[in-house]
Amino acid sequence: MTDIIDGDAVAADIRADLQDSIDALADEGVRPGLATVLMSDDPASETYVSMKQRDCEEVGIEGIHVELDPDAPADELFDTVEDLNDDPEVHGILVQMPLVEQVDTRRVLRSVDPEKDVDGFHPENVGRLVAGNPRFKPCTPHGIQKLLESAGVETEGAEAVVVGRSMIVGKPMANLLIQKGPLGNATTTVCHSRTEDLAAHTREADIVIAAAGAPEFIDGSMLKEGATVIDVGVNRVDADTDKGYELVGDVDFESAEGVAGAITPVPGGVGPMTRAMLLYNTVKAAGEQEGIAVDLP
Ligand code: NDP
Repeated sequence: MTDIIDGDAVAADIRADLQDSIDALADEGVRPGLATVLMSDDPASETYVSMKQRDCEEVGIEGIHVELDPDAPADELFDTVEDLNDDPEVHGILVQMPLVEQVDTRRVLRSVDPEKDVDGFHPENVGRLVAGNPRFKPCTPHGIQKLLESAGVETEGAEAVVVGRSMIVGKPMANLLIQKGPLGNATTTVCHSRTEDLAAHTREADIVIAAAGAPEFIDGSMLKEGATVIDVGVNRVDADTDKGYELVGDVDFESAEGVAGAITPVPGGVGPMTRAMLLYNTVKAAGEQEGIAVDLP
């Protein structure tokens, strides 16, 4: 039997707990504010940003959305970020990636006030995470930690394999798994496109975090019996649906089911957790900037 880890349900619980913190902040006259900045005409980015804004509205976070012409000079983006850094009503800033060509992404990440960097991508916050003293944990790996916790998966002493080494998922995930302390202490291997024999690694893993962005390429034969499988991938593949496509993960769910001990579905696994943890970081940021202690789930 394979347990299905229900990300929608775990995310709903976290959002309900966050609601209490948001109400507590409101009692002190504070409404957390999250600014999203979009400088791209990529439809997926537009969708992500509008979902984030909708999430804010649902829980009582003030959503501020700034949309910039994708052809505008890079300075427009930097000026926008500077204004948001200075705005006391804005506690969190999220610049939607990927950015247009003329903008230096690393400079953007450095330009966001680290105290408002709810994505956790500013070098100061990356450094703090690596040092074991995170300010904001990046939303996707943080959400995965919460999923593992909710499913009662013991990370301590476990063999974990992270497939993917991106700045937003793979690297911070591996860093969290190796931290000393709760939800850490895993013996962690990071695999990537140059890994010689991926299956040899995944077959030894008690926990597999698949974050490569390749459709259904990890199948049941690559998994150890009873392993916990967290599928981060969101891949669009052609399908006979109204939209002409469907979303699938990096894991071939059908063949993994029956081998894995627990698995996250796509959709309904990691995705809702990423969104919930953005709200979490925004509430945390608001509490810290306003000097109000808030309980966080
Ligand atoms: P990136 O493209 O930035 O990174 C992918 C990583 O996977 C790279 O390190 C790459 O290796 C590695 N990789 C690619 N193909 C293989 C392969 N065949 N075998 C082993 N390693 C491989 O992607 P992201 O980290 O941004 O995202 C990964 C996936 O997760 C995507 O599908 C994305 O849509 C999804 N995602 C989902 C989120 C959610 O909330 N559900 C949030 C964020 C991402 P190399 O470094 O050598 O190129």
